[in-house]
Amino acid sequence: MIKMAEVDLKTKYGTFHEVLFYDGQKEAIAFYMGNISEHDAILCRVHSSCIHAHIFNSIECECREEMAIAQQLIQQEGRGIIIWLEQEGKGNGHYALLKSIPFKRAGMPQAEAYEAVGFQKDARDFSAAAKILKALNVKSITLLTNNQKKVNVLSQHGIHISQTRDLKL
Ligand SMILES: [Zn+2]
Repeated sequence: MIKMAEVDLKTKYGTFHEVLFYDGQKEAIAFYMGNISEHDAILCRVHSSCIHAHIFNSIECECREEMAIAQQLIQQEGRGIIIWLEQEGKGNGHYALLKSIPFKRAGMPQAEAYEAVGFQKDARDFSAAAKILKALNVKSITLLTNNQKKVNVLSQHGIHISQTRDLKL
C-alpha cells in the first residue's frame, strides 16, 4: 500500500481527512476524522463502491444511508475511519450487478442473484482494508458492520477488533 495523496474535505458531517492509497492494482481510500492511532476501538466502516446509490441516488439499496450514518457516528465520537474500496457489485463488477437485478426483483437474495448470472455470491476482498489500518497505525477497531465475513478477514489479517456495532444512530 502506497500513500499517493492526502487532503482535508469538508462534508455535511464535519471535516474529514482523505488519504488515497494504491496497492499496485487498485486505489483505495481512507477517510477519517480525529486521532485514530493513539486510541483503542476506533470506529471503522469498510464500505464498497455502489454506483447506483452514490452516483444516481438509488433508493433500492442502503449504501447511501449507511455511509451517512457512518459519518454521523464518527462525527459524534470525534474520531473514526471509513475505508472505501473499489469493488462494485460485491466485487463482481457493475456488469454483474446489472445482470443480477431482474433476479433480485423476482425475489432472489442478492448473493443468489449473482450466482444465477454466473458470478460469485460475494467476491469482495477486504485485505486492502487491513493493510490501510496498519499503514495508519490503528491499534484496534469497533467495526461498524453485521457482516461476519468482514470481521473474519480483518482478524485473519491481524486487525484487532474490539467489538462490532450495527450501523444505527
Ligand atoms: Zn448499494
